[in-house]
Amino acid sequence: MPSALETLVKILKLERDQGCKNTAVIGGLGAFGDKWTPDAHAQAKRPEHHLLVDELSGLLHRYEAIPNKTERLNNIGYMLDRITGRVPPPPEFQVKAPDVPPPLVAPPAPAEDSPPVRPQIEGRRDAQPREEQRPRQERPAHKERPPKPQPTQQARPPRKPARDGDDDEGGEEFPGEERYRESSYDSYDAPSNRGRGGRGRGQQMAEMDIPATPRLARVPRQPRPQINPDEAADILRGLSQSVTTINGIGPGMAEKLSRLGVETIGDLLDFIPRRYDDYTRLRTISQLTADPDTAVTVIGTAIHTEVRVGRSGRRDFYMIVDDGTARMGVTFFGQHFLMRAIKVGNQLVMSGTTALFRNQVQMTNPEWEALDTENLHTIGIVPVYPLTEGLSGKVLRKFMKSTVNYWANRVPDYIPEATLERCELSDLGWMYKNLHFPEGPDHLQHAKSRFIFNDLLLLQLAVLANRREWQSVPAQPLPVWDEYLDRFIQAVFPYPLTGAQRKAIEDIRRDVGVSRPMNRLLQGDVGSGKTAVAVVAVAMALMNGKQAALMVPTSILAEQHYRNVGAMLEKMPGERRPVVALLTGSLTETERQSIYRGMVDGSIDLVIGTHALIQEGVEFKDLGVAVIDEQHRFGVEQRKALRGKGTNPHLLVMTATPIPRTLALTLFADLDLTIIDEMPPGRIPIQTRVVDPVARERVYNFVENELKEGRQAFVVHPLVEESEKIDAPAAVEAYERLQKVFFRHKVGLLHGRMRPADKDEVMAAFSSGQYDVLVTTSVAEVGVNVPNASVMVIEGANRFGLAQLHQFRGRVGRGEHASYCLLLSDTNDDEARARLQVMEQTTDGFKLAEMDWKLRGAGDLVGTRQSGGSLLHLVQEMTPHLVELAQREARTIFEEDPTLSQEQHRLLAQRVGMLHNERTDVS
Ligand code: ADP
Ligand code: MG
Repeated sequence: MPSALETLVKILKLERDQGCKNTAVIGGLGAFGDKWTPDAHAQAKRPEHHLLVDELSGLLHRYEAIPNKTERLNNIGYMLDRITGRVPPPPEFQVKAPDVPPPLVAPPAPAEDSPPVRPQIEGRRDAQPREEQRPRQERPAHKERPPKPQPTQQARPPRKPARDGDDDEGGEEFPGEERYRESSYDSYDAPSNRGRGGRGRGQQMAEMDIPATPRLARVPRQPRPQINPDEAADILRGLSQSVTTINGIGPGMAEKLSRLGVETIGDLLDFIPRRYDDYTRLRTISQLTADPDTAVTVIGTAIHTEVRVGRSGRRDFYMIVDDGTARMGVTFFGQHFLMRAIKVGNQLVMSGTTALFRNQVQMTNPEWEALDTENLHTIGIVPVYPLTEGLSGKVLRKFMKSTVNYWANRVPDYIPEATLERCELSDLGWMYKNLHFPEGPDHLQHAKSRFIFNDLLLLQLAVLANRREWQSVPAQPLPVWDEYLDRFIQAVFPYPLTGAQRKAIEDIRRDVGVSRPMNRLLQGDVGSGKTAVAVVAVAMALMNGKQAALMVPTSILAEQHYRNVGAMLEKMPGERRPVVALLTGSLTETERQSIYRGMVDGSIDLVIGTHALIQEGVEFKDLGVAVIDEQHRFGVEQRKALRGKGTNPHLLVMTATPIPRTLALTLFADLDLTIIDEMPPGRIPIQTRVVDPVARERVYNFVENELKEGRQAFVVHPLVEESEKIDAPAAVEAYERLQKVFFRHKVGLLHGRMRPADKDEVMAAFSSGQYDVLVTTSVAEVGVNVPNASVMVIEGANRFGLAQLHQFRGRVGRGEHASYCLLLSDTNDDEARARLQVMEQTTDGFKLAEMDWKLRGAGDLVGTRQSGGSLLHLVQEMTPHLVELAQREARTIFEEDPTLSQEQHRLLAQRVGMLHNERTDVS
């Protein structure tokens, strides 16, 4: 670190320790700043260094005027953070749009066919000259610099020039830079950089060249090459060619790729790695002891392997790994079969989180792979793709590399430059390069952002276009008279509707009253009374002599609605009782045929059913309103199919999944949104407690007491997916155990791998009281009413999103009994516990969903099903920020040019069109 910065750090710390009285230096920080600023500038080398100095200088001068200690303390903290690179510079101190990768990046590798780099770009102009005016001082005089340990230097093979970014300039050590990062002032993303200096690196490690990680604070953008629009359109179309047009990919390989969903060149480019092995996070085992609970990569040799049988009979694979610096134990729960794959003497790369156990480092269920030394010598971050039989990672990487190299510089960028500029997003070609072969973690992050943004923007535009098209086909207006509506509500519901229910009904009524088809999403927490709203929507069709349909995800829910809704409609005022039919998969052929007939001839007014409703051959005489309940269980294509059953009926979709508004508006940009934000009165709030797993006995006692009172209980367990290697307690095991615990009662089991009919049967049995306890996996989410259930125990609660926990919780508290939700976490992690404790404090599903989104990404909230099939990639990384950006840009573009017919939107229109063809499931 340059001595000027080091001095300033000392002064700032002293000032802090002395109580922020501006006494650390004689004359105060402002006067110190006068002398310090020119020195610091003299040591600075790059535009951003100078900007940092300017920023700090300003802060030093303003310090004196800060009235109170807290403010001053904050100020010092901020300065230290800026010096250490922990916080990014404010906009006014950022280097504007650099055209070449900024300082911390290695000079770009000479790609086979890189486009000519244009030298100048806006913004750079004001930063550049300043750098040149400043005297360049080759080596700042600093004596106390920590010596850079280089015990392994001689052993390293010479580096490739392309990776030499940290060797070309001697003495510069401003924030974020090589040597600087190895000092105690670690810049951001510290873990990825620590330990590369070779501290105590052992024999084995010494032979490996660990590439440096280039940093990239801002997205680099190149001026867009001018190409003939027809040519660009052609190239873009080229992406739809089969992968067999790629050199070296024959029919055999194409078949294998197709198993991975890769058919075209475009698919291949969009085939994103399952994970990345970040060899820049490589550590020696001896370093790990000091730093448990961090995500690291370790390379070592298996020196001992065995299968260990646990108490529950589970067979774990255990091995000891040695990397020349130390040893560590590695356990793979339940994966005894690894005995065959991993032999003593094998060199392995393992990525995972470490933990200390009796002061010994260990890893559990890491991602692992046999060591491929070639990777290490060439790249810092290695993509790891999903694989299929007969296609190795190495081969796939090879094809990917050549494909990316070829296309990254050719593929025309279809997003308008103005949009990229506003949103600070990278170019398309750059994105492909760094998505597959990232130069560094920052590069990868930028590439991911652009990738997600593409999806979001295209989705939005496609959906907006669809909506336009769809709305151009008129629907039948369904006028609804006040007087009749009031009478209906009076007659049918035994309770007054809540304000939120009334408002929702008002929205729907307005929608169906015109010849533009309704397409409305009704979101309301579990138990908020969406069914009543649906009944009114159905009635709006019936009172106009039209038919209605209500589609739900499971037969049991269909039956529940059939009973309840049927009973309500019995009370519908008027001459004729509406005829309601139930259509599920379990009907006999004759029954089904008879219902089909009734639907076609119009003698049936309302059909309630499952997917059976959208089967081939199902037809209506005159469908006026279609309602989908629990719509998150359906795909977009199913929504479309139901709509196709009539001549553009009015559509109402309902969901209890609280999706934050911005996200909902993106995913369902074609839907108008109504939120029910009010619960019917008189609910006894569910009491939620996070319970220490050691108190499990007490939980069981509590449940036992409730059961004695005649109540019922759910016990939810995280599902063990085949692909998921987590050590989640399996519901089946739990079922066997709990049968013993609650031996006085009947225990049922429900899990996702059961056949749908069996699931329905179990659920029905629980609902009718044949079981007292239901052990289940996350399938329990779906809204079946069991008013007698009063306890919900959730094991491994830390593994679920808050919104999902909230959904589970909504299964109880539906009757008149006080109800409880008990959350057991399977870690002692304080953070996990704190997150769960939020459940104790709020019952607002939307608040919880927002928190989830911030803490865990959108993945929990958005099943891939409802996000439009395979369209949205990287859902985990969708941030509110990106969603909002995409939304804003899509609207801007759409408003200006709804048909995307302007010249500058030509490629975009083409890309949206391709989306239509590729994925018919975008509603
Ligand atoms: P969800 O929104 O989860 O589908 P439901 O429609 O199943 O909720 O309603 C949950 C319960 O609340 C039902 O028992 C229903 O009878 C009751 N309910 C609905 N609206 C009201 C209301 N306005 N006042 C009182 N109870 C209501
Ligand atoms: Mg419901």
